[in-house]
Amino acid sequence: MRGYVQEPNQELGEEFKRRQLVRKLVEEFLKAIGEDLSREGLRETPDRVARMWLEELASGYFVDPAAYVKTFEVEEYEGREGFVAVTNIPTRSICEHHLLPFFGYTHVVYIPSGKVMGFSKFARVIKVLSSRLQIQERLTEQVADFLNEVLSPKGLLVVMEALHTCALIRGVEESMTMTTVALRGAFREQRELVNLALQIVSSSKIP
Ligand SMILES: [Zn+2]
Repeated sequence: MRGYVQEPNQELGEEFKRRQLVRKLVEEFLKAIGEDLSREGLRETPDRVARMWLEELASGYFVDPAAYVKTFEVEEYEGREGFVAVTNIPTRSICEHHLLPFFGYTHVVYIPSGKVMGFSKFARVIKVLSSRLQIQERLTEQVADFLNEVLSPKGLLVVMEALHTCALIRGVEESMTMTTVALRGAFREQRELVNLALQIVSSSKIP
């Protein structure tokens, strides 16, 4: 799907080359902060860090979240009106300002318009979009835009709550949690729908 994925370089061995490069740069980084690369504990660190970034934390750059989408038709009839809430979706990403993780939960509430999607697909889509350097505000909007596009719901609300380790670790504010909300469709116009959806989210939240 356009706009949601970077074009990968198809050249053979590109993945291998990228891993070698990241590993080398991790070595340089460790040297630059004053570490001794020859000590036992760091022997495998550059390679381990390179794999972690390329296979997990930054694995979303070349993946199209549309690959994980499978929607189902639901019958539409006069008078049918309801919400679907998918809550407590584990979410983790890396803050682009400090390269440190932020993590928490995403909650999605939508009013279907003939289409629904399986529970686990929401988690897959969020995993792809969050496996890139992000700020929570943009990630929330991207999740909302993507779901809005594939489900074409009458209304959509995405709530993301996350703890930012860049704040935690630097002692900025120990218990700071950021909450971001993105609204689409009917949720933008009808305040009472938002209140109801937020009630559903808060009553289904893992304490
Ligand atoms: Zn940060």
